[in-house]
Amino acid sequence: MANTEKVWHRKYSVSAGTRSLLEDLRRARRRGRSVSRQKYREAMEKAILEEESVGLGFANGTAILGGDIGFVSKALPPRAKLFVRRHELEHLLQTGSERNAEFSANFAAAKEYFWGGLQTIMFTIRYRARFFATKSRYVAYLWGEFKKYFLPFR
Ligand SMILES: [Zn+2]
Repeated sequence: MANTEKVWHRKYSVSAGTRSLLEDLRRARRRGRSVSRQKYREAMEKAILEEESVGLGFANGTAILGGDIGFVSKALPPRAKLFVRRHELEHLLQTGSERNAEFSANFAAAKEYFWGGLQTIMFTIRYRARFFATKSRYVAYLWGEFKKYFLPFR
């Protein structure tokens, strides 16, 4: 999920070292250099912080496009957490030229954490059902989410 503004982002900050690590990754990508999975892993562990799910509503995570900090829900199972962390890190590294920022973040995360992606989908479908009064409303909502996260163009 890419949010443009969330008030509680202001409560947190990351170190100068983390900000410069993110800047290194952006520079490498601009120059067309490949970035190792280990480097992405290091960056996502530093820049994507765990947050109680209540602080995120029912989102699995959030990050500002091009920002320096993101969040992942504590409620997620371990592999899903890796996938969501990598997804949110991708938002921090995006330039705004992506056709569908959500699809492109999922694509990057699934290349490295495929099973985590499946676990995220299963967890999300089960977890969010309780917020909808009827099955048909929930199915309509899921269709909207599917279009948002899994189709390359919107
Ligand atoms: Zn997202």
